[in-house]
Amino acid sequence: MATWEDLDSESGCEKEEVEDEANVDVGLVAPVTSEAEPDSNFEDENEICLRAKENHKSWYLDSGCSRHMTGEKSMFLTLAMKEGGNVKFGGNQCGKIIDTGTIGNASISINNVWLVDGLKHNLLSISQFCDNGYDVLFDKTSCTVVNKNDNSIVFKEKRMDNVYKINFSKLVDQKVICLLSLNDKKGVWHKRLGHANWRLISKLSKLQLVKGLPDIDYHSDALCGACQKEKIVKTSFKAKDIVSTSRPLELLHIDLFGPVTTESLYGSKYGLVIVDDYNRWTWVKFLRSKDCAYDVFSSFCTQIQSEKEMKILKVRSDHGGEFENEPFESFCEKHGIFHEFSSPRTPQQNGVVERKNRTLQEMARTMIHENNLAKHFWAEAVNIACYIQNRIYVRPILEKTAYELFKGRRPNISYFHQFGCICYILNTKLYLRKFDAKAQRGIFLGYSERSKAYRVYNSETLCVEESMHVKFGS
Ligand SMILES: [Zn+2]
Repeated sequence: MATWEDLDSESGCEKEEVEDEANVDVGLVAPVTSEAEPDSNFEDENEICLRAKENHKSWYLDSGCSRHMTGEKSMFLTLAMKEGGNVKFGGNQCGKIIDTGTIGNASISINNVWLVDGLKHNLLSISQFCDNGYDVLFDKTSCTVVNKNDNSIVFKEKRMDNVYKINFSKLVDQKVICLLSLNDKKGVWHKRLGHANWRLISKLSKLQLVKGLPDIDYHSDALCGACQKEKIVKTSFKAKDIVSTSRPLELLHIDLFGPVTTESLYGSKYGLVIVDDYNRWTWVKFLRSKDCAYDVFSSFCTQIQSEKEMKILKVRSDHGGEFENEPFESFCEKHGIFHEFSSPRTPQQNGVVERKNRTLQEMARTMIHENNLAKHFWAEAVNIACYIQNRIYVRPILEKTAYELFKGRRPNISYFHQFGCICYILNTKLYLRKFDAKAQRGIFLGYSERSKAYRVYNSETLCVEESMHVKFGS
């Protein structure tokens, strides 16, 4: 059984660890090189000067200091007014706050920075960023500051040795900076497609694999804050160079994830993921407990076989107790379905469903956190992630979407909207009484599987509704 990486652990230990590391190292910043004596005769004098200058201009991201501060007046773009007061450094030394001002470059400006008399380092306070609506994200190689309002990246810098530091003048020169505004057309589609990677969106557009996607250049080095935050690993798995099944329902991969600590809106704690090997079409069924797996799976089989007028030949699962039991085996036997198990030593045999499972969970987490939605929306998020995946996943070798391979026609995605956005459910009653509201506010959750309607969480009735009459702001 796959594990749902719990939604509670959103900050992740990786981030914590690195922050600790930053605490130790940056807190004990070595003196700036401009003051250090070069100890080698082999270094070019100019080079040393350049390096000294560069280091002198670098700002250390420091979790140990409470405010942004520097001792170097020339760092400021503007200086505002005298702050007053003192700052304590290590070793019981004190420095007077001379001024406050703004630092940065033509693209970024950071205000409320203290100019402190005698301070030898340039320090950016992580807590000051966090208090002002920014997230500071560290990983092994870099540090990213993200604006929480629109998830745009303010700046991203590489880790140097054991410290995270930024040189604003260098960022401009090298154009490393990526001030991404995801409100542009392609950003909107990136979000509507569950933060799918640019390469895939580009491919869908170029090969015209879907209908309704605006014909623009989706190639981008732009980084999206929400994706960065969730550390979406866009691993490209090596595609097998053969397609081993020849039709839908020939082989189904099944897996269960959960328990999720927060119950979904409808009280579910597990998800049963079923993937068709041939076209990679995916279904997710939500369960209150593991015990329901058999009932849900057997009724799914009956329904899909009659809908498609095809027989399921094989089902592959791991050795989870929810699949390896008497009723499950006798159901398979009765319906002529061969049940095979992926070997516990080579779990990649069941890799198709596990990878899909992971993709759905990553997409769901990103969409929930991006919109600051309550965790009990997780099932709705997984549901729309699955809906999107079925329409945009391109089957390697066959080079067609799961949808086209399953339904025989290209999917239309022109009606897509961003999960979690605010929308209005129009009141379509024929005769509105004088004081009846014309529309009710809601949160967009997805698309109905049964009709051409949107799924919306009505913020007034606190229920999920399916309606065709929904108005979106964007
Ligand atoms: Zn994204």
